[in-house]
Amino acid sequence: MGTATLTIDRDAIIANWRALDAATDPQTETAAVVKADGYGLGVAEVAQVLARAGARSFFVAVAEEGVAVRRALGVGPTISVFSGHMVGDTELLRDHDLIPLLNSGEQAARHRDGLPGHPFGIQLDTGMNRLGMEPEEWAYLRGWLLGEGPTLIMSHLACADTPDHAQNAAQLRAFRDMTEGVSAPRSVAATGGTLLGTEYHFDLVRPGVGLYGGAPFYDAQPVVTLSLPVIQVRDLNPGESVGYGATWVAGRASKVATVSGGYADGLIRAKSNRATLWAGDTPCPLIGRVSMDLITVDVTDLDEVPASLDILGPHQGVDMLAEAAGTIGYEILTALGARYHRRYIGGAP
Ligand SMILES: *Cc1c(COP(=O)(O)O)cnc(C)c1O
Repeated sequence: MGTATLTIDRDAIIANWRALDAATDPQTETAAVVKADGYGLGVAEVAQVLARAGARSFFVAVAEEGVAVRRALGVGPTISVFSGHMVGDTELLRDHDLIPLLNSGEQAARHRDGLPGHPFGIQLDTGMNRLGMEPEEWAYLRGWLLGEGPTLIMSHLACADTPDHAQNAAQLRAFRDMTEGVSAPRSVAATGGTLLGTEYHFDLVRPGVGLYGGAPFYDAQPVVTLSLPVIQVRDLNPGESVGYGATWVAGRASKVATVSGGYADGLIRAKSNRATLWAGDTPCPLIGRVSMDLITVDVTDLDEVPASLDILGPHQGVDMLAEAAGTIGYEILTALGARYHRRYIGGAP
């Protein structure tokens, strides 16, 4: 088989959800964020395994993603949409029982006119300046919207992956000020906020990346293994070069493996000459440029070249690979290609 295999450990996802759930008090609900195709791992399988772990509330970025989650989970679980009620969303929200998190007065008016009586939540901006109602707008709309009984009032922290960043406490204060006396359930914490401590938990925490083994949940169990098949191996003389632009030149007699997987599969080009693959316990440097479908690896020091090399596995998780490429684990995960064969292990009910 020419395509690489992405193995997803459902038991690890369950363990990560339960560990974050255990970090919160019993009265705090632990939800699950499954946007961007379940952080690249396959939204249907990921949502189902998280439901089995115990999650009852799910969050997506846009309504179309919510439809996929509803199809995977059936009726029952709550599915909320961060982008709120956009033009064209009305039928999707209604037909698939999705809850928009209203971000502005404009969205609130659209929701009232398009779906009167349909549940909604509210997103407040407490300082990230990305999504949500600003304090003045909220002060103006609050009486009306609270009278309608929102399902959730939430905000998002900009710096939760940096525990001692002053903005965490500032946003917490702003959220408390903006929601004083409110009886609706409240939420500010994603993965980072969940790990900041119970004062950030309120009624519901909404981790995403930590469920899939990424920082800032450093104690997470690794979820993904990515094995790239070796297509061919060749011997090089000193002075011969490898790949586009001839950016790597053999300094010794070398053995080079060409493996299946490239930037079209999310192995971003910034990994050129920087990342490491693994043959079991032996590291093998990625050499030359990443091309669309292929990468090249120095396997000179291996006694025997295996049928495939791992780029994600026990020796290198998403964050380590991200560091080699100058990015973050989130981007490594969500870039994982559509071409991979996704294989799900564990997760027996
Ligand atoms: C993506 C997102 C989350 C989940 O964030 P993680 O850092 O992946 O845990 C939570 N809330 C909002 C508003 C988001 O956009």
